Amino acid sequence: MTRGICILGATGSIGKSTLDVLARHPERFHVLVLTANRRVEEMAALCRQYQPKLAVMRDAAAARRLREALADQPGIEVTGGEEALQEAVTYPGVDEVMAAIVGAAGLLPTLAAVRAGKKVYLANKECLVMAGELFMAEVRRHQVTLLPIDSEHNAIFQCFGDERGVRRIILTASGGPFRQTPLAELQRVTPDQACAHPNWVMGRKISVDSATMMNKGLEVIEARWLFDLQVDRISVLIHPQSIIHSMVEYLDGSVLAQLGNPDMRTPIAHALAYPERIASGVSSLDLARGPALQFEEPDLQRFPCLALAFQAIAGGSASTAVLNAANEIAVQAFLDGELSFPGIARVVAATLEAYQPATPADLDAVMAIDAEARVQARQAISLAGAA
Ligand code: NAD
Ligand code: MG
Repeated sequence: MTRGICILGATGSIGKSTLDVLARHPERFHVLVLTANRRVEEMAALCRQYQPKLAVMRDAAAARRLREALADQPGIEVTGGEEALQEAVTYPGVDEVMAAIVGAAGLLPTLAAVRAGKKVYLANKECLVMAGELFMAEVRRHQVTLLPIDSEHNAIFQCFGDERGVRRIILTASGGPFRQTPLAELQRVTPDQACAHPNWVMGRKISVDSATMMNKGLEVIEARWLFDLQVDRISVLIHPQSIIHSMVEYLDGSVLAQLGNPDMRTPIAHALAYPERIASGVSSLDLARGPALQFEEPDLQRFPCLALAFQAIAGGSASTAVLNAANEIAVQAFLDGELSFPGIARVVAATLEAYQPATPADLDAVMAIDAEARVQARQAISLAGAA
C-alpha cells in the first residue's frame, strides 16, 4: 500500500522539491492533498500534473478561481479558507504531512497535523521559533514522528546515530550573498540582490533571512527544540560552499559531518524514506572537482540579526516569538521596498526592546504575542522612516 501525502505549501520551493521526489517513487507514495496561499495558476498546474484528491487555497477568493480553473477535473475537490487549511491534514487517507508553509502562518496547520497523529516532515522552522516548547510538548503527547527537513537539522539527525556522548552540534552557514560586501554598500542592496543566494534557490523570505543570517539564528532555536539541547552546545560556523550541511562533535573528539550537493531534495528524500534510503535526483558530490571547502567564524557586526537571535534565546520563549514576528514584518517591508536591508536588524532590535511580554503559557498566548509584536514592528518601521 502506498502512503498518502499532504503537502502544506505545495507551490513553494520545498513543496515543489517534495513533489519532484515523490514522483520518482510512485510505488511508495501518492499525493493526496496540496495546499497553497493564493497563487492560483501555479496551483492549477500542480493539480493537473500530480492529481491530488483535494486542493486547498488559504485565500477564499483564490479557491473560487481555482475551482473555475479546474472545472474539467471532477476528481479534484477544491476548498478555501483558514479552517479548510487546518482540515486538509485530516483528509481521509492522509498518513503524512510535509509542513512547508513559510512563516508563522504554518504553525496552526502543522499543529493540526501533530494533533491528528500524522507523521510530520518539518520544513517550517518558524513553528519552533514561535512556540518550540509548546509544539514539542504536543509532539510528545501525540507520540508523533517528527523528521527534520531543514538541511542542517536533517544533517545533524543523520550524524546522531547514537545520541550519547554528544559534546556540541555545529550548524554550518553559507554567509549568504553579502558575506564580503563592504558594509557601507548594504544600505543600498535590493531585494533581488538579497534573494540571489550563491548556493540555494529558495523562497524570498528565507533567502532574505539567509542574507541577514537571521536564518541561522532561527535554526539555532529550531535545533534547540528539535534536539532538546541547550544553546551553549550549539555553534555556528560559516562555510561558504554549502557542501557540509552540519556536524556533530562527540566527547572523544570525533566530528561527524553530512555532505552533499546543496539541493533540498536530499534531506527531503532522506526524511521521506527514513530509515531506508531512496533516490532523490541529486547528482553525486565530486569533491575533487568541486571548490575547496572553507570555514570562518561569523562576524556579528556584519550580521547583527544573528546576535539578536542569541539575545532573544537568552530572553526565553516570549522573546523568540517576538523575534520571529518582528523579522517577518521587517523582511516583508524590505521586500516591498519600504525598509533598507540594514533596517531589518534595526526594526527587530527596536521591537525586542519595546515589547517584552511574559512567557506564554499556551498557544493563545503565543498568537497574542505574535499579533502584538507585528503591531510594534510596524510602528518601528514608520518611526524609522524607512531608514
Ligand atoms: P516559498 O515562499 O517558496 O513557499 C511558501 C509556501 O507557503 C507557498 O506554497 C505558499 O503558497 C505558502 N504560503 C505562504 N503564506 C501562506 C499563508 N499565509 N497561508 C498558507 N500558506 C501560505 O517558501 P520555501 O522556501 O519553500 O520555504 C518554506 C518553509 O521551509 C520556510 O519555513 C523555510 O524557512 C523552510 N525551509 C526552506 C528551505 C528552502 O530551500 N527553500 C530550506 C530549509 C527550510
Ligand atoms: Mg537551513
